[in-house]
Amino acid sequence: MTPLRRFEIDQPASTTEASRILAEFGDEASVYAGGTELLLAMRHGALRYSRLVDVKVLPGFDAITWDGGYVQIGAGATHRAIEKSALIREKLPVIAEMESRVANIRVRAAGTIGGNLCFAEPHSDPATLLMALEAIALTSGPEGARELPIHELISGAYSNSLKPSEILTSIRVPCPQPALLSAYVKFQVHERPTLGLAVAIETPDAGKTIAGIRVAIGCLCPFPRRSAAAEQLLLGTRADAEKAIGAAANVLADEAELLDDQDGGADYKRHLLRVFLERAMKKALD
Ligand SMILES: Cc1cc2nc3c(=O)[nH]c(=O)nc-3n(C[C@H](O)[C@H](O)[C@H](O)COP(=O)(O)OP(=O)(O)OC[C@H]3O[C@@H](n4cnc5c(N)ncnc54)[C@H](O)[C@@H]3O)c2cc1C
Repeated sequence: MTPLRRFEIDQPASTTEASRILAEFGDEASVYAGGTELLLAMRHGALRYSRLVDVKVLPGFDAITWDGGYVQIGAGATHRAIEKSALIREKLPVIAEMESRVANIRVRAAGTIGGNLCFAEPHSDPATLLMALEAIALTSGPEGARELPIHELISGAYSNSLKPSEILTSIRVPCPQPALLSAYVKFQVHERPTLGLAVAIETPDAGKTIAGIRVAIGCLCPFPRRSAAAEQLLLGTRADAEKAIGAAANVLADEAELLDDQDGGADYKRHLLRVFLERAMKKALD
């Protein structure tokens, strides 16, 4: 690793000012939040900026609020703050649990949800779960504010769909009534997870009938995704229907275009998907 090159840090007073600085310095400038990914990439020489725009200082940028129907999480909220938030624990305990298992305590204390989603590292935990929960990303930029589903924010591995000088400001997570039964499970042997899988189930009778379901997978593929075909196979069945779960896991594996890599062979990952889909369904019912 090489020493960091010299850079200036700006601390804007508003998102408008942050976007103005980003526009003024163009490719020389970048948003800087917890720095856990950005500074690492800069030290490796993979990214070079002479100007970092520190968004953590923006007023209310880390706020977590309830708006009668959804929880809004500021992009500057750290993984640790989300895990510990009484509001998140009450309204969306599945998020608190997922956050408690992201990385290690040092990364959780500094890394933000906004940085995680914008960096779009393929092994992200929050992106997969937020996709199953149908969360919305709120942004602010020179052309005004935008709202886009998480699957549109993440446009590929290490790539997002933010426009130049645009900033992710918060994430809105719906809390439908009656609540969906949801779970996030993951499998990890290295520093970052090999598999992440989230389900959100609508059931009127504790899993005897699946009236609605969302399944999202991550880490096994370049970016997290949902599968309409897999969801269709599970719809109308029981949450413990082994045959349907096996068929849905196969569809997920086909769509993920599994590769042999340092995390394991494609056949092994296909097997993991089957095991972890079943686990996620059981966990959601529990
Ligand atoms: C050792 C290690 C282990 C990890 N393990 C896991 C894991 O198990 N699971 C997991 O999900 N993640 C893991 N991570 C990733 C971690 O979650 C992220 O590093 C962290 O959340 C990124 O947030 P940050 O605030 O540090 O982003 P930064 O490093 O500050 O920024 C990352 C990128 O996002 C951009 N950005 C940041 N905020 C915004 C914004 N509001 N608007 C627009 N662009 C923005 C920056 O310009 C930069 O390009 C790991 C990271 C490390 C270093």
